[in-house]
Amino acid sequence: MHLVCPECKNDVDVSRYPHLAPADVVECDVCGITLGIENIADGEVAAEVVDEGK
Ligand SMILES: [Zn+2]
Repeated sequence: MHLVCPECKNDVDVSRYPHLAPADVVECDVCGITLGIENIADGEVAAEVVDEGK
């Protein structure tokens, strides 16, 4: 699977998440931002930045 961080535009290593599914949350290993998985299609993962402001 392939995920590009929407914040830093780098490839995120999703091999750490072997059971990735929509609504999961992952962390970009480049910029450290939290990403919520929106969709996975044909190996391409779409994610959006999770607003951590509480
Ligand atoms: Zn990033």
